[in-house]
Amino acid sequence: MGDSRDRAWFLYLLRCADDSFYTGVTTDLQRRLREHNAGRGSRYTQGRRPVWLVGAWRFPDRSSAQRAEVRFKRLRQRNKEQLAAAGWPFDGAPFCGPLPHRFCPRCGGELKTLLRAQDAHPRQVCATCGRVHYRNAKPCVGMLAVREGKLLLTRRSIQPYRGDWDIPGGFLEAGEQPEAGVVREVWEETGLEVRPVEVFGFYIDQYAYQDEVDFTLNIYFLGRVVGGEEQARDEVSELGWFGPGELPARIAFAHARSVLADWVQRMRKDSK
Ligand SMILES: [Zn+2]
Repeated sequence: MGDSRDRAWFLYLLRCADDSFYTGVTTDLQRRLREHNAGRGSRYTQGRRPVWLVGAWRFPDRSSAQRAEVRFKRLRQRNKEQLAAAGWPFDGAPFCGPLPHRFCPRCGGELKTLLRAQDAHPRQVCATCGRVHYRNAKPCVGMLAVREGKLLLTRRSIQPYRGDWDIPGGFLEAGEQPEAGVVREVWEETGLEVRPVEVFGFYIDQYAYQDEVDFTLNIYFLGRVVGGEEQARDEVSELGWFGPGELPARIAFAHARSVLADWVQRMRKDSK
């Protein structure tokens, strides 16, 4: 019970796959998001997956978060979305989650959040130079390296998801070609040299870093190992090869579970 007094409570806002909103309170945003996406969060979100974190507000205790939740649920959907897009406090609590910029990177002017007639979503617009600041997902790459019907997975030695299994890959550097980036990432994490053979698919997810959450666009390749020596390194504690029927239960990142499910389906189709 020791740390429960110091623990922050979050009022969080999710966007569901059907574009509706869901609100709840939690002490652990990342875990809660994962539960919702695994179908264990609530009956409402179970049939509306995937869900995305729109934003969250940090409260000192459970009762203040729950009181705020009651007030928040009375707002119109448009107002809820605008609060999160602007990063405004709610009920005296600071905003966290996908953090909007406060100042224009071009001129340093203050950014205002506006719902313009031509846009479906609120946009941040510079009050000084008028520039619109679009927010986009960050590009990531991952490799489905298959050898004798088994898939290479890595075990994470860092947060988020420390101890969980992951598909090798990571963030692209600015200007880096996806094929080059995935070869570099797999080399850094596993010591193996891989060759991408084809594009497997694209998956949107979110990545939490401290209090900030950003969207990621995850590009997956199918490929094979062409050299190198297997060695867990960088942000990885262990490597493993898994067949379609023997994948580990603890998988990092919501989208990776979809990738693996798609891979299993494809392997079964290919073997028919
Ligand atoms: Zn500006």
